[in-house]
Amino acid sequence: MSLVKLTALQLAEKIKRKEVTVSRALDALYEAAEAGADDHKSFISLCKEEAYQRAVEVQGLIDKGQPISPLAGVPLLVKDNICTKGVRTTAGSKMLENFKPPYDAFVIEKAQAAGMIVAGKTNMDEFAIGSGTQSSYFGPTFNPWDKSKVPGGSSGGNAAALAGDEGFIALGSDTGGSIRQPSAFCSVSGLRPTYGAVSRRGLIALAASMDTIGPMGKDLADCAALFEIIAGKDSGDATCHDYTFDYRAAFGQDIKGKKIGLPTEFFTDELDEDIKNALLDAVKTFEGLGAEIKETTIKENEWAATLYSVIASAEAASSLARYDGIRYGHSSQEAEDLLDLYVKSRSQGFGKAAKLRMMFGNFVLGSENYDRYCLKAQEARTLLALAYDKVFEDFDFLLGPVSSSSAYSADADFAQQFNCDSSRAYTAPAALLGLPALSVPCGFDKSGLPIGMQLMGKHFDEVNLLGLGLTFQEATDFHLQKPMKDQGGRA
Ligand code: GLN
Repeated sequence: MSLVKLTALQLAEKIKRKEVTVSRALDALYEAAEAGADDHKSFISLCKEEAYQRAVEVQGLIDKGQPISPLAGVPLLVKDNICTKGVRTTAGSKMLENFKPPYDAFVIEKAQAAGMIVAGKTNMDEFAIGSGTQSSYFGPTFNPWDKSKVPGGSSGGNAAALAGDEGFIALGSDTGGSIRQPSAFCSVSGLRPTYGAVSRRGLIALAASMDTIGPMGKDLADCAALFEIIAGKDSGDATCHDYTFDYRAAFGQDIKGKKIGLPTEFFTDELDEDIKNALLDAVKTFEGLGAEIKETTIKENEWAATLYSVIASAEAASSLARYDGIRYGHSSQEAEDLLDLYVKSRSQGFGKAAKLRMMFGNFVLGSENYDRYCLKAQEARTLLALAYDKVFEDFDFLLGPVSSSSAYSADADFAQQFNCDSSRAYTAPAALLGLPALSVPCGFDKSGLPIGMQLMGKHFDEVNLLGLGLTFQEATDFHLQKPMKDQGGRA
């Protein structure tokens, strides 16, 4: 069996026991990544030289028997909007095609201090705008379960690499669903942490009030272990809380008597029948484990997708305004004067999806529209938050879909892609309210494509949220199923 089929915790254990060296783990990863390069296109850059150098240092510490962390020696995949010092970080855009950050993101500093090794930068929708990893300037990623389908997005490179066994574990980002939806489409596990649990320093901003960095793994145990490493205070991000998470506390929880709510707004006719059935089966599993499950209603949910569109677009227009062709990023060589430099650099550097998002964002931000759209959206966001506060007085968790359908066709044209955000109504609430939410594999539809379940928890209650998800994974084997190599489909 190739080493790269192991989970991150399994690999770390083998490294600790000296059954495997760190550089051997890197060999296995790069062999698989290169073999899958044409089929899946999960990566934008592999940073072999830096990784093998680091491997020597880390191996030295491990050989001295130093206890570093539960993931010491494990190669890490990093979405290409998370800054890595000296290693190209593109955000999937021509705008940053040659950008080498002069610093590491906080999460990279933490992962490295824990003995992890950055192995490669993964493909993503341009500036994290999209749902299928099709807006990447470097070309689309494909779903290992069926190469004619998208892997989801924007963290699609991570999801495809993990599902296709081209990596052990990954860091992604979720603004409005970008960890949860690709995890669901590719049958991997992913956590969007509470806003403020993980520093955003060094994450290339999309929508600052919703951006989060979180772990993606072959199972939730790996996600919990990586979350412990990256969570916590950073004086370089004023929105980051002093928060510690003990991943071991998430294991072996008794969920007897835990209250799980099913918002009826998540189970409408728009939801694919196979997904609905898989979720109802999951409900039975939880009931079998002693949880109490009840329907609930949050009528404000119906606004969530629209509020997300307005707020995310306004914030994206503002974040992306920094790319002016002067300070860094693509700079047009044909400009005749300053204004022309702005126009040409931005016209050439940004792709269609980013331009559309900024146009809409600038429209709602315009002085004649601001009150009507942006202010109103923020007011409605407060009402949504109050509605969720109330629901969480009665429930410990909420359960729902991640997306109304499984992975969609990779042939979708731009207009279809734009309308293919089948997850927004389900993923936007946690984004708008900063709630932790995870995606966990819970079944397959009639065509054999994976289905993910979304579990949402209370702010900073990752220990119980991951505990609930881990209990589900201990009782089921959906996360252990693998796509068939070459043909796609289930092995
Ligand atoms: N598909 C959503 C969007 O395009 C999610 C993006 C994200 O979470 N980065 O806004």
